Amino acid sequence: MQDRAHSAQTPSSPGKVRKVRGTGRKVLARPYAERTVSSLPLVFDAPKRGLPPRHLADLDPAGRREAVAALGEKPFRAEQLSRHYFAGHDVAQMTDLAPALRDLLSADLMPPLLTRVRDVECDDGATIKTLWRGHDGTLVESVLMRYPERTTVCVSSQAGCGMACPFCATGQAGLTRNLSTAEIVDQVVDAARTEAARGGRVSNVVFMGMGEPMANYARVVAAVRRMVDPAPHGLGLSQRNIVVSTVGLVPAVHKLTQEGLQVTLALSLHAPDDELRDTLVPVNTRWPVREVLEAAFGFTRATGRRLSIEYALIRDVNDQPWRADLLARRLAGKLVHVNLIPLNPTPGSEWDASPKVVEQEFVRRLRAAGVNTTVRDTRGREIAGACGQLRASHDAEVTAPVALRSRR
Ligand code: SAH
Repeated sequence: MQDRAHSAQTPSSPGKVRKVRGTGRKVLARPYAERTVSSLPLVFDAPKRGLPPRHLADLDPAGRREAVAALGEKPFRAEQLSRHYFAGHDVAQMTDLAPALRDLLSADLMPPLLTRVRDVECDDGATIKTLWRGHDGTLVESVLMRYPERTTVCVSSQAGCGMACPFCATGQAGLTRNLSTAEIVDQVVDAARTEAARGGRVSNVVFMGMGEPMANYARVVAAVRRMVDPAPHGLGLSQRNIVVSTVGLVPAVHKLTQEGLQVTLALSLHAPDDELRDTLVPVNTRWPVREVLEAAFGFTRATGRRLSIEYALIRDVNDQPWRADLLARRLAGKLVHVNLIPLNPTPGSEWDASPKVVEQEFVRRLRAAGVNTTVRDTRGREIAGACGQLRASHDAEVTAPVALRSRR
């Protein structure tokens, strides 16, 4: 593999203007290259600090039995405790355990992980963004989205993100730390509890919140296992209803292919050519478009699962008809679905979404080439809860009414 990272850090012709084929329009050849790609480094390894104490959701069923045995208790207690945790019960509801035992086990295996700071709602309550504070003060966000036929939780896998994509608010804020397996799972357990209280259930999980899931690989895969393991060991979600979204860390995609998980892989492509993708998704300087598509289609071949391609349409940056055609050529005939995302505004960014007519032409060209394509809704935009807008700050970015609820 050729490492082209260095050349991207020092672009040869930053800001050069060139004509866009077929449109007569002029754009910056390397948008943001000198300002963003060169100033924000790619960070693959999170700082070691900050992970919370061990929680039962960090452990597999055997590990939980061992932990309970280490406290001098019967191993089957692990299953009782797990059943309660994944059902969203609090300690007082664990009535099949004597109070003293309940306190002993929960103190050791259920340390507080994430504390709700606030909920912000929009879409008439159908979208709820939650801001969480970790035990060390770290802030992360998750988003609950209710649709007529499903309820999806969008979870964070890291606090911040090290992938430095210039159009993404999370990427621009940098990486604070990895989340633990249990911190990831806890976001879903909380959402499931919220839904159960109103007679519903969480059916889908998408790893499209803060962070690059493949840069926190082992914890993310363990979290997926907790989500799909049936009760009492986990949440019992369908593997097919879990989407792992990645910028395309090729070795991790290969590894995921070996896990035997029937999850959906989403690849954040955003450009079909290396020149542009190097600037929009800086990790492309390590693993270029051809390599990342090869790895992603390897996952598709092994699992039979359709690949999702994420493509945020950015006006005059990646929305040209010739790029639609190039994308179509790279995907035609494959088991793939393209999700076009109208660019969501992020603080300080001069970019905006493509005009509707341009978007429609992009869709038309992909479909004409036989590539399955849809335009994603922009759920959560007003509360900065849509794709690429999560940055977990206390500031006044939020204009919608704030509902405060406390849990612990
Ligand atoms: N790091 C992973 C997970 C984040 S998913 C990944 O990149 O796939 C969030 C999705 O929203 C990704 O496809 C990301 O590229 C996209 N996104 C980021 N910023 C956006 C923005 N401003 N508007 C629309 N989509 C955006």
